[in-house]
Amino acid sequence: MTEYQHEQMEALELVAGHLSGLKAADIDALKGKLADYLCFRRDVDTFLSTHFSDICTETCYQSRISACCTREGIITFFADVAVNVIMSDEIAIQALFSVLRSPQEGSKCIYLGEKGCLWQVKPLVCEMFLCEKAEDAVLKINQDLQNEWHMLKKREKTFRWPDQIVLFDELEQLFLDAGHSSPLMYLHNSPGLLRVKKAVGRKQ
Ligand code: SF4
Repeated sequence: MTEYQHEQMEALELVAGHLSGLKAADIDALKGKLADYLCFRRDVDTFLSTHFSDICTETCYQSRISACCTREGIITFFADVAVNVIMSDEIAIQALFSVLRSPQEGSKCIYLGEKGCLWQVKPLVCEMFLCEKAEDAVLKINQDLQNEWHMLKKREKTFRWPDQIVLFDELEQLFLDAGHSSPLMYLHNSPGLLRVKKAVGRKQ
């Protein structure tokens, strides 16, 4: 198991273990907390599938020139893991454990299965990634779509950029308060993100 797999496994075990001890009403309350974020994710999905599915199919699946889903190439926030586990059933969670326990081969992300990503709500960095070819083919030639994408990027920051109280910070805090910690809790351990909090007078 690589260090990356180990770190991912630890976070997954931590979240799954904590959630398994909660009552159904507490899980429902957590799901309620995610409502705005999941709405944002649906809007991004719609934008991408409407405007990018042709270019992505051609680039990634037909000619196999792909910058997406490279091996250990993504930053996973702790909140990504939490959101995904909250929104996954047991079968989906066990599928993640299974790939993380397996030896990693090839140059692609360990979570990339035959039918695509194994996450139910994939990491935010993955969701917002557009390769240069896709940006050039779709956004560069259409100012309206550029503006729409820009607005989605602005909305993205309201969930993960800690110059204000954001969902990703709140989810880390919730697990910290329950006595858990993880190296993936970047909103509490990344020097850069802590500087952002400090600059606006937020508690770190
Ligand atoms: S979308 Fe899924 S398979 Fe692709 S890099 Fe992200 S986690 Fe890995």
